[in-house]
Amino acid sequence: MPVTGNPEANMSNGTVESNSVPEQENESQVVKPPSEISKNAYVKSLDEYEAMYKRSISDPEGFWKDILADFHFQEKQADDKSFLTYNFDINKGPVSIKWLEGAKTNISYNLLDRNVQKGLGDTIAFYWEGNDPKDESKITYGELLKEVCKFANVLKNLGVKKGDRVAIYMPMIMELPIAMLGCARIGAIHSIVFGGFSADSLADRMIDAQATVLITSDGVWRGEKIIHLKEISDKAIAKCGDSNLDVKHCIVVNHLPRLAVNKVDESTNQSPVKRKQFDYLTPFDETRDKWYHELIEKADDVCPPEWVDAEDPLFMLYTSGSTGKPKGVLHTTAGYMVYAATTFKYVFDYHPGDIYWCTADIGWITGHTYVTYGPLANGATSVIFEGTPFYPTNSRFWDVVDKYKVNQFYTAPTAIRSLMKFGDNFVKQCNRSSLKILGTVGEPINPEAWLWYYNVVGDGRCPIVDTYWQTETGGHVITPLPGATPSKPGSATFPFFGVLPVLLTEEGKEIEGPGEGYLVFKKPWPGMMRSVYGDHDRFEATYFKRFPGYYFTGDGAKRDKDGYIWITGRVDDMLNVSGHLLSTAQVESALIEHKAVAESAAVAMPHKVKGEALYCFVTLRDGFEFSSQLEGELKLKVREKIGAFAAPEVIQLAPALPKTRSGKIMRRILRKIAVGDSNFGDTSTLADESVIDLLLQHRPEAP
Ligand code: ATP
Ligand code: MG
Repeated sequence: MPVTGNPEANMSNGTVESNSVPEQENESQVVKPPSEISKNAYVKSLDEYEAMYKRSISDPEGFWKDILADFHFQEKQADDKSFLTYNFDINKGPVSIKWLEGAKTNISYNLLDRNVQKGLGDTIAFYWEGNDPKDESKITYGELLKEVCKFANVLKNLGVKKGDRVAIYMPMIMELPIAMLGCARIGAIHSIVFGGFSADSLADRMIDAQATVLITSDGVWRGEKIIHLKEISDKAIAKCGDSNLDVKHCIVVNHLPRLAVNKVDESTNQSPVKRKQFDYLTPFDETRDKWYHELIEKADDVCPPEWVDAEDPLFMLYTSGSTGKPKGVLHTTAGYMVYAATTFKYVFDYHPGDIYWCTADIGWITGHTYVTYGPLANGATSVIFEGTPFYPTNSRFWDVVDKYKVNQFYTAPTAIRSLMKFGDNFVKQCNRSSLKILGTVGEPINPEAWLWYYNVVGDGRCPIVDTYWQTETGGHVITPLPGATPSKPGSATFPFFGVLPVLLTEEGKEIEGPGEGYLVFKKPWPGMMRSVYGDHDRFEATYFKRFPGYYFTGDGAKRDKDGYIWITGRVDDMLNVSGHLLSTAQVESALIEHKAVAESAAVAMPHKVKGEALYCFVTLRDGFEFSSQLEGELKLKVREKIGAFAAPEVIQLAPALPKTRSGKIMRRILRKIAVGDSNFGDTSTLADESVIDLLLQHRPEAP
């Protein structure tokens, strides 16, 4: 039975659930969790969620101490240390957050040794699915522990010590989580740079971190293409040298001819996969460079963990760079560990035996928290995927779902929108019956894309968790719980345990009840960032200066009459048209409702009469063409959905949109294109620079 109408009716009506959702006004559209999911969920109802949430806010120490019982601490906090100390008010002194300071633990011990002790030694930790559909492997918790110990010993033998920064620039291969956990085992701070970044971007990040060890691979396959990561690494290392950073060791995984180091099937004496033949000699500096497999071969597979302080740094990671120069976000050990584990458990409602898959690259925070740390902390079995959703066909995601019988699937709106563009058949030809829960993260998901994900990918059976969070927050902060929260397409719904979101007015006044404003957090939660690496002033200026006493996310949000939170986008991107403040999400969602539109981006441009007017970019679905008629229809769509004042001034065809390497739309570039300004600022985080030229070519005459 389709879900329609008033939320109360739906929430209390047990018969309304799990079926196709028609398209309509989204704020009043409520999708109840299917009873199949609620029945077995850790949190079974909104009432249960509310009770737990209230306790997490009124008694955070009691709430988290219950959860902490599940983790190993080598030393407890001294009696005189408080559980949490913090200051969010820059007028009262430096901003600081300390959680469980003085306690000693090790995250790799908690993720590996502890699970092996619990009897999960033979449980698969990761299935690895290569770029080539025939290329695969797997690793158990017992094996992973040994590999991590070996690699930790490799690092130790090279002289890496607690607190040293280790840069990692790798594709999505098993050696990547092994390398990060190897660092964590000895207390070294990993700084992972997404494998799609250029030599300059890698060098900038290594210099910022003063990392003297780099772990990389010879290269990676992306569809039919090879990317030679070692060559890029060499250029980056040379650039580090120019800035007086002496990179002492470069550890290289021999991945391209994977067969050479891969286990050979003993019965046939054949490698499991036949690779294309290619003549390629990896450039190698005999003094600085070392093959990963040669080092590992000689390393001991036992390595006692380094017991680090709860507040010792675990890793640093740069933000996506959607709004400007990326920030080197610093996370510490215990708070991040507990928060990653707890959000993973509840938000994906992960139960032993489930197969979970997050498509994010480990080079982003989503990959850190929800490919490596969160799943392993729960003893989960997950899939690591090297490839792309489009190779060898646009069905690849769903093929992988069927192959491993994936139960929880987590991806980004950008992937959903680009797959939507190719139509439903690529999805429908796959079975997908194993799917139970679908997740999304990274950008606001337009209701249109949400409904497609729900109705087509999930066959109207799987709750969608629209998880709002940031590199800075360490884990989900506003999100539904799949068995408990009736969702609304496009809303991230309610705060996770321990998180206290507040909406502020321009003047910094708290908005009670329904309203729209700046999204801030009033209290720390265990997994939030502690600083910007090497630049605490930037940390304070970026997040705590605008509204002293609060952590400012940089995003805007709206609270509706039912208390649901809707992320409206970055406040820097807000549109002010004829004195009306509009969010990008509002306009873009209206455009994407048109059947011809696959993706859209709205920016403001100066206008003589209105002050600012809307300039909109649209990418079309396969089979549609841009025309003045379509332009008229799209303008009408926005007028109808929002109001006459919002009718866009210009609609431009965008064969592609400028995106960060993590797949987010960079509206700051589009604002420049709208006004014909070619000073684009920092474009190093742009995934594909050629998009700019393409957009300039399609720019209408004198808009
Ligand atoms: P930078 O901070 O360098 O500009 P970035 O903000 O894109 O880059 P990330 O930390 O990767 O870097 O992204 C966090 C941001 O992504 C959030 O602040 C928000 O704008 C957006 N976001 C993430 N998840 C969601 C979601 N579920 N709904 C709406 N927006 C989201
Ligand atoms: Mg940000």
